[in-house]
Amino acid sequence: MEPGGDSRWKELLSRSVTTPEALPPFIDVDRELLRAVSEHYPMRINPYYLGLIKERDDPIYKQCIPDSREITDNAGFHDPLNEEGSSPVPGLTHRYPDRVLFLISSSCAMYCRFCNRKRKVGLSSMVTGSSVREGLSYIRGHREVRDVLLSGGDPLLLEDRDLFPILQELKSMSHVEIIRIGTRVPCTLPQRITPQLAKMLGTFQPLYINTHFNHPHEITPESALACARLADAGIPLGCQTVLLKGVNDNMGTIKTLMRKLLTIRVRPYYLFQADPVKGTSHFWTPLHKGLEIMAALQGHTSGLCVPHFAVDLLGGGGKVPLLPGYVIEQDDHCVVMKNYAGERYRHPVLD
Ligand SMILES: *Cc1c(COP(=O)(O)O)cnc(C)c1O
Ligand code: SF4
Repeated sequence: MEPGGDSRWKELLSRSVTTPEALPPFIDVDRELLRAVSEHYPMRINPYYLGLIKERDDPIYKQCIPDSREITDNAGFHDPLNEEGSSPVPGLTHRYPDRVLFLISSSCAMYCRFCNRKRKVGLSSMVTGSSVREGLSYIRGHREVRDVLLSGGDPLLLEDRDLFPILQELKSMSHVEIIRIGTRVPCTLPQRITPQLAKMLGTFQPLYINTHFNHPHEITPESALACARLADAGIPLGCQTVLLKGVNDNMGTIKTLMRKLLTIRVRPYYLFQADPVKGTSHFWTPLHKGLEIMAALQGHTSGLCVPHFAVDLLGGGGKVPLLPGYVIEQDDHCVVMKNYAGERYRHPVLD
C-alpha cells in the first residue's frame, strides 16, 4: 500500500490512546482519577492528534485529555438540544422544514471532551445497521427533505465501502438535492482523506463538507493536504468552530484561526456558543464573549473570514444567529448605526 494510502489512517487509529494509563509520561495527570472519567465518557486520542500537544493544558490538550470535572460537575443536560425528542426514527433528527440530521457513525478519530453528543458518541448502540436503514427509508418517504446532513460520530470513520452505499442510496432519491457531511477528520485524523476517498466523494456532487477546527495549532501541513484533496475533488469546505473557554475564547485566536482556514480553502460557516451539555461546563463561555469576538472580526478582516455566530436553543428550538448590536436607534425615516470602528452614522430608511 502506498504511504498515505488506505492502511495509514487505520494504523494510526489502531494506535490511539484509549485509557489514561496509556498516556505518554510527559502528560502528568492523576491516571487513577481519570480512569473513572474515561469509563463514563470514552477516550480516544490518535497519535497524530496527540502529537499536536505542545504542553500541559494547551488548547489541544484541553480538547482531548479527560478532566475530572466531566464527572464531578453536575451542571447542564444530557441532551440539551432535545435531539431525541425530534427524532422520528432513531438517529435521525428532523427539526427544520427541508433538511434532516442523519447519524451514520458512532465513532470519531478523537473524542472531544466538549462534544454535544457526549451522551452517546463511542457507544455501539448510537448507530446500528437497522437505524441507518430506517433513516434512509424515512428520507425516501419524505419528499420535502432536500438536504441531508450526515453526522455522528464521524461519518468519515466509516470505511469507504460502508459509506459509499449510503451516499449512493441518497443520490438515488430525486428529492435529495444536496448531501452534506459533518466531519472532524480533516482536523483530527487528516490521513483519513486519502486520494481514493476524495475521488469517491467527488462523484457525489453537489456534496458539501463541514469540518471542525477550533484552534490555529490544528492547521498543519497534513490538515492542509487533506483539505486540498477535498477541494480539488470539487467539494466546498466549511468550518463549524465551537467557542471553548481556555481553548479559543479570545479574539486574537479566533481571528487567526479564521484567516488560516481560508488559506487551506475552508470557509468559516458557524461559530457556536458551546451547548450546556452535562460534563462540559468547564468549557462554557458567556454569550457576550461570542458577540465581542464577532464585533472584532466583522469589518476588521475579510468578510470571508466571518462565520455566523449561532446559539442552539436549549430544548430544541434550533439555531439562532446573533449579531453584535449595530443598530443604535431608529425612527420612521432614519436608522442610527455603528460601523465596525464604532463610529455612528445616520442612514435613511428609504421606504
Ligand atoms: C444544525 C442542524 C441542521 C443544519 O442546520 P443549517 O443551519 O442548515 O446548517 C439540521 N438539523 C439539525 C437538527 C441541526 O442541529
Ligand atoms: S468529532 Fe464531533 S461528534 Fe466526535 S467527539 Fe468530536 S465533537 Fe463529538
